[in-house]
Amino acid sequence: MSLVQFGEKEGKMQKIYICFPEGKTKALTMSYDDGRTQDERLIDIFNQYGIKGTFNLNYGIMQHDNMRIPAERVKELYSGHEVATHTLTHPTIERCPLSETAYEILEDRKGLEMLTGGIVRGHAYPNGSYNKEIKQLFQQLGIAYGRVVEAKPDFALPSDPMEWHPTCHHNASNLMELAEYFANFQKRQYLKLMYVWGHSYEFDQAHNWEVIETFCRYIGGRNDIWYATNIEIIDYMEAAKNLRFTADNTAVYNPSAQSVWIQTNDKGTVEIEGGKISNLHRL
Ligand SMILES: [Zn+2]
Repeated sequence: MSLVQFGEKEGKMQKIYICFPEGKTKALTMSYDDGRTQDERLIDIFNQYGIKGTFNLNYGIMQHDNMRIPAERVKELYSGHEVATHTLTHPTIERCPLSETAYEILEDRKGLEMLTGGIVRGHAYPNGSYNKEIKQLFQQLGIAYGRVVEAKPDFALPSDPMEWHPTCHHNASNLMELAEYFANFQKRQYLKLMYVWGHSYEFDQAHNWEVIETFCRYIGGRNDIWYATNIEIIDYMEAAKNLRFTADNTAVYNPSAQSVWIQTNDKGTVEIEGGKISNLHRL
């Protein structure tokens, strides 16, 4: 069938909005650093409420520090979540030669990929340290995004994924206010993201596990929120960007392997399956 047959006869432009999976417009992601043993308890809580997280691990430290999740436990514990890099040994990389920084990221990737059997492409900058050269280097070494420390409570997708600002740390005094704003936000003309970060050992130090339990109980299990790891969001938005629409928006080709969801004025929410041309013309 030729694409010409899809053409809109009335001459009205089809309006398209990119959505998150299942047509949702809100996403929640979590990011926890250092892979200390308290990740066990944190993941129990995430799993209980259907929340997904990214865990940033130092392959070079976990092997000789009994306060860290042991290497042989990584694959099973973090299953369903994302394992991401945090460098091999947690240096303040802005102070290191770039060649050393390259070694730190590649060796962390190799170790974590061996443990998980997956492709590790995420990163959180240790000690929040980065600069323009490091961002470029990491991209060249296969890193798809880098999380920084400074929070930006704008609920926006990252404009520069190599400098991805979280919405807040879990210790933010307004954590539950931010969660309530996000949960109550209903305008579908925006894609909104809530992104919380921290270290699981902080809950032991501050004796405040109820902070994350209360947050997860409140924000988890909602059918209008996409619970995703960091890399799932990056990969999904990349697939969305790669959609190829006809000039009149009546057909679209999705060259990716994964589905992308869009909202159209003719058909409502539509799943655009990977590797296919979809007709968006009104029925
Ligand atoms: Zn760290």
